[in-house]
Amino acid sequence: MPTVEIPCEDCELQRDLIQLQGWTFLGCTELAGGFCQLRYDDGAAAPKVLTPHFTLREMTESQTATRLGILNLPTQTEVDNLSRLAETLEKVRASVKQPVRVSSAFRSPRLNLAVGGASNSAHMRGLAADINVNGMTPRQLAQHIAGMDLPFDQLILEYDSWVHLALHESKTRRELLTIRKGTGYTQGLA
Ligand SMILES: [Zn+2]
Repeated sequence: MPTVEIPCEDCELQRDLIQLQGWTFLGCTELAGGFCQLRYDDGAAAPKVLTPHFTLREMTESQTATRLGILNLPTQTEVDNLSRLAETLEKVRASVKQPVRVSSAFRSPRLNLAVGGASNSAHMRGLAADINVNGMTPRQLAQHIAGMDLPFDQLILEYDSWVHLALHESKTRRELLTIRKGTGYTQGLA
């Protein structure tokens, strides 16, 4: 049950979103500067379901956020983007006939900075997911998705460890890239 503390002014501004997304307001700390304490309770509320197999929680969950006490809270626009992303992941799930594991989808600017993400990362807009599928290597998964009739913007095989699948507000370039230590980005799925 992760607990985070955020500045009271942020908490005040986002109170509706905070409650909608399953966080419970525990109160303000007595500390100077004014911090609100929030707790996420996995069991308390019914999870907000974006699509039959993806919840908002798993699209915003982050081990780094929990460790650093970052409230990784998307705005309504970003939640809408995550819904679109989840619909795309449903198509991948149906095609590979296996659950799709999401290791990172939405990242608030603070979380993106903490994980060393690109400054213009689609993760920050709720439009990218890093995924794996049991029984497939990341390379096999990337090749499978590339072979699907799927309107994505970018598909990146990252460090042979996961697949980054990104949408865009308007573009569907179906760009294929590989990134490895040492060589950086190369075109295609190498
Ligand atoms: Zn990614």
